[in-house]
Amino acid sequence: MHIDGKIEDGYVIICDEDHSFVANHLGLAVECTHCGRLALGVDLAELLFSSYEREHSTRNDAMETSTVTISR
Ligand SMILES: [Zn+2]
Repeated sequence: MHIDGKIEDGYVIICDEDHSFVANHLGLAVECTHCGRLALGVDLAELLFSSYEREHSTRNDAMETSTVTISR
């Protein structure tokens, strides 16, 4: 189970069975509304955090590269 994205109402979660549902918030556990599978909110949050971190470091690299280009 993983977080597909954040929307106004909460988080879009994709279950291992390819069900998608919206969780208003990441509690202790998140339950799929279609099949009842459970995932820990912290696990989902950790995945989301590491993907944010990846995006962030990519963006930093791009900024550094453009700065170097400008100063040359
Ligand atoms: Zn499911």
